[in-house]
Amino acid sequence: MAATSQSSKFLPPTNKQQLKALGGIYKLNGDIRRAITVGIDESFLPIPIPKGGDWLDVHEETGQTVGEYVKMSKTIPTSTHELFCIGVTMADLYPQADWNFVYGEADIDRGIGLWSFARLDPLFPLTEEQQWQIPTEEQRILILKRAIGVFLHELIHLFGMEHCIYYLCMMNGTEHEEEMDEQPLYLCPVCLRKLYSSLEKVDFDVIRMYQGILDVCKKFNFKEEAEWYENRVKLIHREKEDL
Ligand SMILES: [Zn+2]
Ligand SMILES: [Zn+2]
Repeated sequence: MAATSQSSKFLPPTNKQQLKALGGIYKLNGDIRRAITVGIDESFLPIPIPKGGDWLDVHEETGQTVGEYVKMSKTIPTSTHELFCIGVTMADLYPQADWNFVYGEADIDRGIGLWSFARLDPLFPLTEEQQWQIPTEEQRILILKRAIGVFLHELIHLFGMEHCIYYLCMMNGTEHEEEMDEQPLYLCPVCLRKLYSSLEKVDFDVIRMYQGILDVCKKFNFKEEAEWYENRVKLIHREKEDL
């Protein structure tokens, strides 16, 4: 989204770097341990080498390990009525004059997020006439999937989680809609481990979360995503039965 381009090229992390980012898991038990260790190569794809104009071609990202995240992260307080304040707009947003646009912005310290769904419509920018057209089923699914992806991505930033460089993941940065559409609607093991560290005190149950997302995916007809969550839950349960 910014006009500048980085000179150093991004190299996808090695398996050793992925494990280092995940950190020690000896304190973890049960489903969350299985969720970040079982069938990883089967369920999670490597982050692709960026093409010209992709996020990692334009922005330098050094990654944030679980250890680094835990040091500075927010833990959900157990006695608060308001966790975050989130705004959604159909107006196109840009944060400063040399940026052409952003999908969203998050102020982690104040727990405020604002994001725009304007560019998620494949017809953006809409003509006067198109504004009144009912989207096709295909367009509806695409817009909704992008909106949920942007919403969750920005929401997770509010927990202090930075962009992911370890796998193909919902927390990868995205520079354009094509890149956004290649992004999955799930967290990689490193980012899931980070989320768990923020939510474990409020009884975080990864299977319950996966089932909830699976129901939403089925309801909205997100076929690929529903299949992924179904397989992931099966894999985690299969390992449990094998023990
Ligand atoms: Zn982001
Ligand atoms: Zn990730």
